[in-house]
Amino acid sequence: MRLKLLRFQPRVEYLPGKYMHIADLLSRQCLGDHVEDDPEMTEVVHEVTKYIPMSETIKADLIKETALDPGLSAVMKYCREGWPLTKNKIEPEAKPYWQIRMDIFVEDNLIILEDRIIVPVKLRKPVLKKLHTAHLGIDKTKARARQSLYWPGMSNDITNFIKECRACERHSANNYREPLIPHEIPSLRFQKVGVDILNFDSKDYLVLEDYLSKWLEVKPLPSKSSKAVIDALRSIFATHGNPQQIFGDNNPLNSSECHEFARSIECDIKTSSPEYARSNGLAEKGVHIAKQMLKKCKDDGTHILDALKEYNNTPLTGLTVSPAQILMSRACRTVIPTLKKHLEPKVVLVKALLKKLQDKVKAQHDLRARRKPVTFQQGDDVVVRRGKKWQKGKIVRRLSENRSYVINLLGGGQLRRNTWHIKHSKTKPDRVDAGGNQIVLDAEEMLANLKANDSVTRNPRNPLCNFVPAACRTVDEHSATYVSIWSTNYSE
Ligand SMILES: [Zn+2]
Repeated sequence: MRLKLLRFQPRVEYLPGKYMHIADLLSRQCLGDHVEDDPEMTEVVHEVTKYIPMSETIKADLIKETALDPGLSAVMKYCREGWPLTKNKIEPEAKPYWQIRMDIFVEDNLIILEDRIIVPVKLRKPVLKKLHTAHLGIDKTKARARQSLYWPGMSNDITNFIKECRACERHSANNYREPLIPHEIPSLRFQKVGVDILNFDSKDYLVLEDYLSKWLEVKPLPSKSSKAVIDALRSIFATHGNPQQIFGDNNPLNSSECHEFARSIECDIKTSSPEYARSNGLAEKGVHIAKQMLKKCKDDGTHILDALKEYNNTPLTGLTVSPAQILMSRACRTVIPTLKKHLEPKVVLVKALLKKLQDKVKAQHDLRARRKPVTFQQGDDVVVRRGKKWQKGKIVRRLSENRSYVINLLGGGQLRRNTWHIKHSKTKPDRVDAGGNQIVLDAEEMLANLKANDSVTRNPRNPLCNFVPAACRTVDEHSATYVSIWSTNYSE
């Protein structure tokens, strides 16, 4: 009908029944004769499938499975003999096709929806596999499928199929950012400090920054050993007193010597997740500032401690006071000429202002945070970012620190990571050989995996979306044939 109407540009106008004398009369006088198809139009319709670029073998498979498919065989019958007047009179398996019945036609024993072939249930899984040959993303694969194929629930099936593809998961992109969880601003000066180690020009330095005043300390280290780090910390604390909390990276703060030292001065050590330096942002920023200073001082021969003194006496960005004014309630005398009144003590309260600045930073960050806060439960199947790949693992427990989890890797070993490096996983575990190398599955093994999966009901409201109907599960030779046919002969 649609093809027949293509050459017209119909204009529809409403005309009340009382003015439609002739049409009204004839519409009630239906012709009883059988109407033959217009041979010319049949030829046009045949053109749709005449040049489908697919091999005879695949076409034969499609025809055979379409005839065996309970839903599609019913649809074929309705296309030929006419659809029942109401949906509840059709075969249950044909119900998903009710909405689109006006656009379906049968051609060459295939069922076509406009210009797309309707794939029978039995062939959907091999087709999905073929569609995903290039391991393209969900949207691209859907677009590719929509060009020429159709089945009810195709979109969902493609999404699920790709979510279960281990190759795609293994090489998937980084997580999006989650909303920022800012460090709590301490009430007291030197209550909480961030610590990190900086290497510049083959020398190590301990960098420490106070979370309230942003006072920066840079101490050269003879080595990265725990003893050297403790000595540097002790010398800083001799001037400013003991902090209540030291926040830093695992290395070296997580050593037993550092914990012992912290206990001796009644202080807690908190460490950030490995490979997630962002959570130790303040010390990271301190390291960046110190490194820039060291580079420039080396260039013009200034002593790093002279530069550091100026830094600590320069107003902070967004504030009118310097770290020295916040921490010591006075400006320190430096080589910059200044009036006496500026050196007199004056307590500066900045917590409220810092909180305001922090909220602003969080709002800006969260605008770009596209990942909702994610939590994991003990025993959850996950993948963990290792280098550029995602490795399978299971959640062991959550640590008290924000977003930090301990994970058992499936290949052996345990590690701690931030949620930035963890994703939920739906794929099957990798198979590895004795040397730990991944075994690539061949077609037969993949087929076995597919069969093991076929009892899974993907969409309970639409049983047709099961990949392989229970009735077909025993027909092994069919499945084996289809995988090889669809993976070699189907021309794209
Ligand atoms: Zn893939």
